[in-house]
Amino acid sequence: MSTLFTKIINREIPGDIVYEDEHVVAFRDIAPVAPVHIILVTRTEIEGPASVPEHGDHTHLLNAAKIIAEQQGLVNGYRLVLNQGEDGGQTVSHLHVHLLGGRPMGWPPG
Ligand code: 5GP
Repeated sequence: MSTLFTKIINREIPGDIVYEDEHVVAFRDIAPVAPVHIILVTRTEIEGPASVPEHGDHTHLLNAAKIIAEQQGLVNGYRLVLNQGEDGGQTVSHLHVHLLGGRPMGWPPG
């Protein structure tokens, strides 16, 4: 059974895709919390950040984030967020990075 994000990657459900490469697909979040809120997801169905070391796909995600941030004109900076598990606020069990930008980010996060 495919994850929600794999269905977006495969165009089985609609998504506003802004970037694709061999390893990563990125699309706009359906419920944005910043002027720019893009989800970067691995083509491989990795469950979450805690599963990354054995796969090593974090490098591809970070490289893609840098490219997309430049494309989106986020010259003043941006925030990357990876949520792990229930307390981390992860709702989709498919490794992804939130790219947030277009406004100053507060700290600490909620
Ligand atoms: P998480 O909470 O797992 O870190 O992030 C999941 C993100 O996926 C949330 O920000 C949520 O708004 C987004 N999301 C959930 N369903 C959809 C969808 O069908 N399409 C898109 N584009 N984003 C979604």
